[in-house]
Amino acid sequence: MTQIVEPSFRESVDLMFNRAVALMDLPPGLEEKIRVCNATYTVRFGVRLRGQIQTFTGYRSVHSEHMEPVKGGIRFALGVNQDEVEALAALMTYKCALVEAPFGGSKGGLRIDPRQYEEHELERITRRFAYELAKRDLIHPSQNVPAPDMGTGEREMAWIADQYARMNTTDINAKACVTGKPLNAGGISGRVEATGRGVQYALQEFFRDPEGMKKANMTGSLDGKRVIVQGLGNVGYHAAKFLSEENGALITGIIERDGALFSSDGLDVEAVHQWIIKHGGITGFPDANHTAEGSAVLEEDCDILIPAALEGVINLSNAANIKAPLIIEAANGPVTAGGDEILRERGTVIIPDMYANAGGVTVSYFEWVKNLSHIRFGRMQRRQEEARHQLVIDELSRLDEHMGDAWSMTPQFKDKYLRGAGELELVRSGLDDTMRIAYQSMRDVWHERDDAHDLRTAAYLVSIGKVAASYRAKGL
Ligand code: NAD
Repeated sequence: MTQIVEPSFRESVDLMFNRAVALMDLPPGLEEKIRVCNATYTVRFGVRLRGQIQTFTGYRSVHSEHMEPVKGGIRFALGVNQDEVEALAALMTYKCALVEAPFGGSKGGLRIDPRQYEEHELERITRRFAYELAKRDLIHPSQNVPAPDMGTGEREMAWIADQYARMNTTDINAKACVTGKPLNAGGISGRVEATGRGVQYALQEFFRDPEGMKKANMTGSLDGKRVIVQGLGNVGYHAAKFLSEENGALITGIIERDGALFSSDGLDVEAVHQWIIKHGGITGFPDANHTAEGSAVLEEDCDILIPAALEGVINLSNAANIKAPLIIEAANGPVTAGGDEILRERGTVIIPDMYANAGGVTVSYFEWVKNLSHIRFGRMQRRQEEARHQLVIDELSRLDEHMGDAWSMTPQFKDKYLRGAGELELVRSGLDDTMRIAYQSMRDVWHERDDAHDLRTAAYLVSIGKVAASYRAKGL
């Protein structure tokens, strides 16, 4: 019996890149220059914990420096390795180009299971890792700016920012060395929810594309659509919460480490999230069916499948059984190159990772700009905007008095219209705009080019075109 060999994550990304680049007419050598990873730094360092020295292995990979700083998250997971970090760094290059965030691509990782450590231990490990990276300018406001990823969040970003500031006491822009920080440590409103929010905006924009919906054999709106989500972490939780609470989607399945929950009436995402916080997993959650065979639920009947946990979960072994007509890749690389081919042949529409989860880096970009400008978005304009709106309301109120019962303003209109945009509203507006424009750039290629049969190829064509243009502008 011949064994089916799945390519590695980095090979998968390269295969998808190659498929798109074959349709382009790039100057000789440029294709190779864009594809390869510029450098990967491996560090091993020791931390004294629980009476003995423990050695940790970490990576920071820089895929492309056609724009600087380079940007990409830091992942804490046991599965972290060089191949994975390089694949994720490459995806960052293409993602930033696609959503016009002015960064090159990078990614970092530490091989660790964060759940095995106390908070004070994790702080020492994170600070030491940050020290090793900052020492080599692999954390730097103008050269390399990390962000959260799997296993890391605001807390770790705050430690990294503080570590950098301690090592660079006169750098007025020190806070811009990392994004995804808590609000009180230089963060921005809306960063925690950003990637999940971006998934929601991406789906909303997809549902405004009648031709795309036809290709997925879908009709109607998000209201009532049955959704299965894998991974109820930062990205999956926010995406599922917004889609169910604001768009009327039914979250019929949630897959986690310890199995899956499903309910045809739709699960209460907030309740499941609170259950996980309290009990460490979904097991025992009432009002839903539970199965220990979590990944089998990927193959259940639904309208939209959202893998939001790990890479490679849809692959040669299960792609043919996936029933969802639409997959949105909230995680990075959840579908392998082999899985992708099977699904494309079956006509499944895949909204690709480099677009679908770009909400995080988009809002990270806003945070970085905020840190460099040293002022909160909206601080100068908000009250002035409100004062101008008040003028309109006063004028309308005067009219209101003259018109008697024939016409009157609703109090809700007054409240909504009067309120000037604060940072959160501005961030959401900037994110929505970014997700719409990026979708439209892929959509045009997808629908207009006969050789771009799927959204992923279209996304690569747009982003590689942009990276190539910036290399050309540099004279390379
Ligand atoms: P997270 O650590 O907050 O959440 C991951 C979730 O997946 C956790 O709830 C975990 O329990 C669950 N999980 C782990 N193994 C699983 C398994 N085998 N089956 C089912 N569930 C499992 O991570 P995150 O930040 O939400 O990242 C998830 C994905 O999104 C990653 O691929 C990451 O690269 C990508 N991403 C994250 C961001 C961000 O801003 N955080 C941005 C872009 C892309």
